Amino acid sequence: MTQSNQELLASDTASYHGLKEGILYHLRYTLALRPEQATKRDWWLCLSMAVKDRIVDDMVDTQDRHNQDNVRRLYYLSMEYLMGRMLVNNVHNVGVFNEAQRALESLGLEWDEICDVEVDMGLGNGGLGRLAACFLDSLATMDFPAIGYGIYYEFGLFKQEFQYGKQIEHPDTWINYGTPWEIVRSEYAQPVQYYGRVEDSYDSFGNYHPRWVDTKSVLGIPHDIPVAGYDTKTVNFLRLWSSRSTEDFDLDEFNNGDYVEAVRSKAIGETISKVLYPNDKTENGKELRLVQQYFFVACSLADILRRFERSNGSNWDALPDKAAVQLNDTHPTIAIVELMRILVDDKRLHWDHAWGLVTRIFAYTNHTLLPEALEKWSVALLNKVLPRHLQLIFEINHRFMVQVEAQWPDRDDIKADMSIIEEGPHRSVRMAHLAVVGSHTVNGVAALHSQLLKSDLFPRFHALYPNKFTNKTNGITPRRWLLNCNPELTALFEQYGIESDWPKNLERLRKLESLADDPVFQEAFMAVKHQKKQALARVIFDECGIEVDSTALFDVQIKRLHEYKRQHLTLLNILTIYHRLLNNPDLDIVPRVFIFGAKAAPGYALAKTIIHAINAVADVVNNDGRIQGKLKVVFLPNYRVSLAAKIIPAADLSEQISTAGKEASGTGNMKLALNGALTIGTLDGANVEIREEVGEENIFIFGLSIEEVQALDRHGYNPHQYYQQDEELRNAIDWLCSGYFSPNEPHAFDDIRAALLEHGDQFKAMADYRTYMECQQKVDAVYRDPSRWARMAILNTARMAKFSSDRTIQEYAREIWNLPACSVS
Ligand SMILES: *Cc1c(COP(=O)(O)O)cnc(C)c1O
Repeated sequence: MTQSNQELLASDTASYHGLKEGILYHLRYTLALRPEQATKRDWWLCLSMAVKDRIVDDMVDTQDRHNQDNVRRLYYLSMEYLMGRMLVNNVHNVGVFNEAQRALESLGLEWDEICDVEVDMGLGNGGLGRLAACFLDSLATMDFPAIGYGIYYEFGLFKQEFQYGKQIEHPDTWINYGTPWEIVRSEYAQPVQYYGRVEDSYDSFGNYHPRWVDTKSVLGIPHDIPVAGYDTKTVNFLRLWSSRSTEDFDLDEFNNGDYVEAVRSKAIGETISKVLYPNDKTENGKELRLVQQYFFVACSLADILRRFERSNGSNWDALPDKAAVQLNDTHPTIAIVELMRILVDDKRLHWDHAWGLVTRIFAYTNHTLLPEALEKWSVALLNKVLPRHLQLIFEINHRFMVQVEAQWPDRDDIKADMSIIEEGPHRSVRMAHLAVVGSHTVNGVAALHSQLLKSDLFPRFHALYPNKFTNKTNGITPRRWLLNCNPELTALFEQYGIESDWPKNLERLRKLESLADDPVFQEAFMAVKHQKKQALARVIFDECGIEVDSTALFDVQIKRLHEYKRQHLTLLNILTIYHRLLNNPDLDIVPRVFIFGAKAAPGYALAKTIIHAINAVADVVNNDGRIQGKLKVVFLPNYRVSLAAKIIPAADLSEQISTAGKEASGTGNMKLALNGALTIGTLDGANVEIREEVGEENIFIFGLSIEEVQALDRHGYNPHQYYQQDEELRNAIDWLCSGYFSPNEPHAFDDIRAALLEHGDQFKAMADYRTYMECQQKVDAVYRDPSRWARMAILNTARMAKFSSDRTIQEYAREIWNLPACSVS
């Protein structure tokens, strides 16, 4: 061992001083390179490792403190974490942004170029995974002892490319060159059992204790990603499990000489954490997905109990005092059953005792009311993969049905409605019912959504457990979504005397209200917007080869592609404007650039057709000289967190146009408004609360209300009626499907027409088309008045405090987790 390594081991901090020395240290001793050999990626890696060294020092102190104080911890269980890039966020959070910039500069390197080397950590689909990432940031920033648990997918969300306008998926090989942000902790590996059968068995007192035998097993290996809070010493971590075959995996096969079969089985064990399912808000009941869910839940619970027993021995009654577990959607719900299995089968607690503990530990967040998203697992599949858990689910349900019978005697209809088991030719387990029954608290993610949970999705459960349901409106971290992505705007805050702690106290931005009418501030604010639009215009040119005018209105719709989010409604708007322009080239409209970013689930045919259609229309519009550049359409490929960070500061208008009642909250709406984009949207999800905060004169609201949507559903909705009565609408649809935009594939977009007409337009795009067009006219009118627009934009930024995820986490901590903060100093 070298002298310097010994010193490093003996010391409590990294053995060099200054980030620059750290970078050079890692260049030599980790990468074994001389500076003249180093690529940009090498420099990024070395800077990241030097920053991580700082973080690790605080992480060790934080974990020591949490362990010594035997603190209550929050455990966040989520199948997805959409972390994005880590370097910029971490340098800001640990307060070395300026030092890092200086270090790179003195090495002759460009800050932006080095940061752009980092591959996003894209271990999630969209909003749900990004929410988990924002929550981790807020938990650490507010000194809450918390650990996130999830899966270390070898392939995150696919990379998207367009070929002839169509989405092509490529594997996301984010881990190919390793990540500097992880610490692999093989010493905390956890074995996980699957398959096998349940054997009747009795203990020495004659009590029935079934045994789960003949199982297969895999190992979970923890990869810890440190999560540094902003302007605090607290460093929590995200523990992601990768699967490895156990050494004794099918040793029989091995010994019987079937070496290749044994190695093949070993490979199967390693597929569990291989790939993230790319479905957003749809379930497809695949066996591997269930195996993934149980894999990360079993590893995490074993880890939680190991930590508990280290400090508390087998004093199980203390478990609910030391551990609060939040289930991010139903994906980790099997945790409720797994904890019952451990307490009853392994720890030999009586059922009622165990159930009493379990139901004080778990809380469940519902993310959607869409029926296609509500998870169900077939009884047959559960019986195969987790036979003992299936037995326990039946027992939980039996006792639950007794409760229902007591509340509503002789009402078999209510029992069928509420049962955890859905009867029928293919019996299945309703995971949401299991989550509600096994949790002490159930929350929705915006006021409106939480109301609908009680009135529409779980009315009986609400009657049975009136105090179980609550709301926690989502939020976003102002560190990533303002400080990191818009330093130009935050520099302006400093110039105008906004207190420098605004990233931890977003209420500080309310001071901007008094500047909203100040022409000098308005100009400065809009100058930053213009600067960010110029930067985005360069990204658009580099990515798509399209030239856009940075003085045009940037109209942005960035989110997963879904019918309910209605990107196709925006497309109808584009077609209508294009049509008007062609028929009246002198038409005086505000020049607009429509900017889309969206991935479609690979198996979601209509979503892919909508992408193709937008790209096809874009290609025609962007190359039509007759419209004098008044209209451009850009679909940026591969929408992800790092791209969002470039688009959001440059947006003028934020499209949040889901069918009322379908978007649970949305968080993209919050990111955009915080950066001074005005929202055009429906009264859906958190848009309702954004309107309350910014004031109705500072947002563009249109469309059907939930009540109107429900009335149409009840009384028979007829999309043909709108088609027949609205000439512009009819023209837009007919033109799109005429083959004009896809001469080589004249029927390429027929599915869109079918969805809107023949299949009944489930999401009411036809009904909302005209009011949407009219609302866009108002947007045009306001944009022509730069001072009025600036005032509205400033007031949006000024009034977003409610949507800091710090506020959300404080509410969870107080009202769900009963979680005290623990400062580490
Ligand atoms: C915020 C975010 C989302 C969620 O956007 P919504 O408009 O709320 O659906 C999805 N993907 C990425 C990359 C995000 O950053």
